[in-house]
Amino acid sequence: MEHVDVAVIGAGPAGSSAATWLARAGARVVLFEKAAQGRDKSCGDGLTPRAVAELERLGVDISGFHRIDGLRVQAGRTEREVLWPGGIFPNMGAVAPRAEFDAMVLQTAIDAGAELRDHAKAEPVLEGGRVVGVRVGAEEIRADLVVIASGAGSAAAKLLGATRVEKSPFGLAIRAYVPSNRADDRYMEACLTVKGPDGKLVPGYGWVFPAGNGIVNVGVGALSTMRNFSQLNLNTMLDSYMAQVGPAWGMGEFVNRPKAWRLPMHVEHRSGPGWVAVGDAAGLVNPFNGEGIDYALESGRHAAELFMASPGTAHAAYDALLRREYDPFFATARRFAWVIGRPRLLRFLLGIALSTGFTMELVLDIMANLIDSEHRSLAGTLLNGGGRALSILDPILMRTQESEVSEIRAKIDAAR
Ligand SMILES: Cc1cc2nc3c(=O)[nH]c(=O)nc-3n(C[C@H](O)[C@H](O)[C@H](O)COP(=O)(O)OP(=O)(O)OC[C@H]3O[C@@H](n4cnc5c(N)ncnc54)[C@H](O)[C@@H]3O)c2cc1C
Repeated sequence: MEHVDVAVIGAGPAGSSAATWLARAGARVVLFEKAAQGRDKSCGDGLTPRAVAELERLGVDISGFHRIDGLRVQAGRTEREVLWPGGIFPNMGAVAPRAEFDAMVLQTAIDAGAELRDHAKAEPVLEGGRVVGVRVGAEEIRADLVVIASGAGSAAAKLLGATRVEKSPFGLAIRAYVPSNRADDRYMEACLTVKGPDGKLVPGYGWVFPAGNGIVNVGVGALSTMRNFSQLNLNTMLDSYMAQVGPAWGMGEFVNRPKAWRLPMHVEHRSGPGWVAVGDAAGLVNPFNGEGIDYALESGRHAAELFMASPGTAHAAYDALLRREYDPFFATARRFAWVIGRPRLLRFLLGIALSTGFTMELVLDIMANLIDSEHRSLAGTLLNGGGRALSILDPILMRTQESEVSEIRAKIDAAR
């Protein structure tokens, strides 16, 4: 039977990042991808400065993609623009259509020596409570570590208990490509007050991310904590948002059919004997903005480094690292997700947040994944303080979420 050091299931940013670092360190790694090369993924295509930092580490050249200098946030009639602050992360972001971007990161893994097997749907093989390899059709491949990089809600992840924590929030989002006469704009635009056809606010947020080639990526998303989430119709919401922002962006018709997908934000198990989950499979999506490419790239690198340092204990060390460096921020963000789901409270907080350039810079740090556990920042400190204060309300927040989520579970299951 074939034996490799590491088998990676899924060749999105998380899997390709893990495979690149492993191959560069001398491991024999095989990357299994069920789709063909150049597959698309429903995404806003936004690369935050944090993602750019990780791509620089990987040596992926993104200079061909449209550069972004900052974030424009709209709430009602208020609009503010802030430049990326620089500092611990680069002062640039980018918009990179996923079909091209993922192919580029995957090519980096192949160039590093990882072997790609595409059109290969893999599932982990369990023996005595330990993952010992993967199965692709009738073929079995043994591996010292299996990296689950199979994205949101995948069967491979579920098989190992990397399932969504039921009482925690999650998101749903939809994106479309449309032509626009402002596709060269250098700001990512996020709208926190999306209106329905009747002009009333609907729960959720919208974005326009200019891709620089005559096209913008436009989309809407919503958190499960938002009121009326169970009645959410993403297509209608996208139409409403496009009616709201389309004229200002000079938008045309959809280039192709809008595509929706899930945003996981908390999963039960992220590692176990013989396996680790990275990226969306580990629930690493920021509840504040739905972004996860940066975390996917980072978690792939962490998994690889820990395996190379000590193959036998990598799964436990990886779990400890996530708990130490990521969980505090995510726990706080999930508490705020409950706040974001309350329109009146949200409007009140937005009023404060967007009132001055200073407060807006704090919002930017949070909305653009610029808070880092290793470097203290004012936004990080305020967020932690707010999170700790909100944690007192956990019994109420969790109970509320539980009842809301059970209401919508049937709908999500039906949509699968
Ligand atoms: C509408 C929308 C907008 C978003 N916008 C942004 C944004 O602007 N910026 C941002 O940073 N993040 C954004 N995100 C989140 C981002 O898309 C994800 O965080 C990111 O794709 C996670 O990467 P990943 O490698 O973990 O998973 P994925 O990119 O989903 O890759 C998983 C791969 O695994 C493969 N696979 C699955 N099962 C198997 C199997 N059994 N065998 C083999 N292969 C398998 C899949 O085919 C896929 O190629 C958005 C998400 C959505 C839904």
